[in-house]
Amino acid sequence: MTIDSQQRRALLKVLGAGCGCCICGAAGARLLEYPLHATEIASKTWAVHGELSHFNLENGGNIVNVAFIEVPDGVVVIDTGPSKRYGQALLTLIEKTVPGRPVLRVYNTHHHPDHCFGNQVFDQSLIAAPQGVIDNINLDGNGFADNMYRLVGDWMRGTAPVAPGVALEAGKEEIGGRQFSLFYLSGHTSADFVVRDDTTGVVFSGDLAFLFRAPTTPHADIATWQGAINELSGLDKDLILPGHGPADKRGESLVQTSDYLAWLEDTLTGAVDSGLTMNEAMQLPIPDGFSSLSVVREEFERSVVHLYPALEDQLMPLIDVTR
Ligand SMILES: [Zn+2]
Repeated sequence: MTIDSQQRRALLKVLGAGCGCCICGAAGARLLEYPLHATEIASKTWAVHGELSHFNLENGGNIVNVAFIEVPDGVVVIDTGPSKRYGQALLTLIEKTVPGRPVLRVYNTHHHPDHCFGNQVFDQSLIAAPQGVIDNINLDGNGFADNMYRLVGDWMRGTAPVAPGVALEAGKEEIGGRQFSLFYLSGHTSADFVVRDDTTGVVFSGDLAFLFRAPTTPHADIATWQGAINELSGLDKDLILPGHGPADKRGESLVQTSDYLAWLEDTLTGAVDSGLTMNEAMQLPIPDGFSSLSVVREEFERSVVHLYPALEDQLMPLIDVTR
């Protein structure tokens, strides 16, 4: 088949305009850029807030709070986000906010991928956490990466888990002329690390505290978590940056997280006592006090999956099948 010059001109015009579909290469490719914004929550202390939702193809896993602090000699970073691409965007944001200041320390609050999968773009010898966090990243990091690739796709391109190069033990650390207090807790996971900037009184709680978003429980021990919240409640502080949700001046994140966990435990214990199946337990109503929390129904259902089998083992009577 041949085409005449008029048909050729018409064809070229269509191709030149670009049709915008995904098979037309760069013209149709989705731009994967994290819209990171730094909010100054205390003097020279910035939070980078993520969405109060789940990982998905639209947000690229950006559902987390990350922070950075300008100290006299450079910058301290708390958590690094869900991917290598996020880490690069975070570095760009830091450079734009505090130009020419070197990153001196990166803390990881725990091993969940939204908090530490941006580690790759930082010098590993500057990344620090307790040994328990390091062990958890080494143990679960590859599995988390597989799951994150499934959930958010191309946003994860090139991302691989990197464990901190520094295992912390001391209770205080001076970085770049600023003192930080370090608290080694657990409950949300087996190793939760909390950092307090002793100059501003800001406490970076990681996921021991959530605000206006339902807590996640895949590695939770609720009784231990409640103990950690008690400890954080008694801590001298001026502001809490929870792992998810807005910065919190009045300790509301600790109260909300504790109340939700208490309800969750009571509800699931009651459900096991009543002989409900997991599917039946998932249908239980969410009380008014928690129904406005973001993604609460989904997180409650996930918590049933995480916590129900152990509660059944603990609470249901053993039947001697040998008799
Ligand atoms: Zn977490």
